Amino acid sequence: MAGIGHIAVGLAAGRYQSPQKPLRAMVILAVAALLPDADVVAFALGIPYASPFGHRGTSHALLVAPLLAILPARLIDKTWRSYLLTTAVVASHGLLDALTDGGLGAALLWPFTAERFFFPWRPLPVSPIGARVLSARGLHVALTEILWFVPFVAYALWPRKRPR
Ligand SMILES: [Zn+2]
Repeated sequence: MAGIGHIAVGLAAGRYQSPQKPLRAMVILAVAALLPDADVVAFALGIPYASPFGHRGTSHALLVAPLLAILPARLIDKTWRSYLLTTAVVASHGLLDALTDGGLGAALLWPFTAERFFFPWRPLPVSPIGARVLSARGLHVALTEILWFVPFVAYALWPRKRPR
């Protein structure tokens, strides 16, 4: 994924978390949704893609999501509700990556297994990595993601009445 889908999930979750003043939660949760992809630094460090600590490895595991969620959740409001929502947003990242049609799957079940997983149904095109995202293929991926995630963006940005 090019990240648009992850950001859309974070925006929608932020709106759900704080329907009246959502901007702060939306920004924090959009960043939280992208957090597992900080593992692309592995490429610069020479860690192979297929390594457990490579891209889509441990940072995409469902059991790592509660750890990655701690700081962003505390930046929202330090409640269990925001912690659980942030954990769900971070966990959604690996699950969405497992719906993509290329690259390696996500190590969803690490540390039990380093196996990479895809779902049987993979409708989302995989994004080129790095500067190659600025290509015709990258544009195709971005447009496809926008279409898939319109409901999330609509929920996040739909105007609501302000309380009097
Ligand atoms: Zn990812």
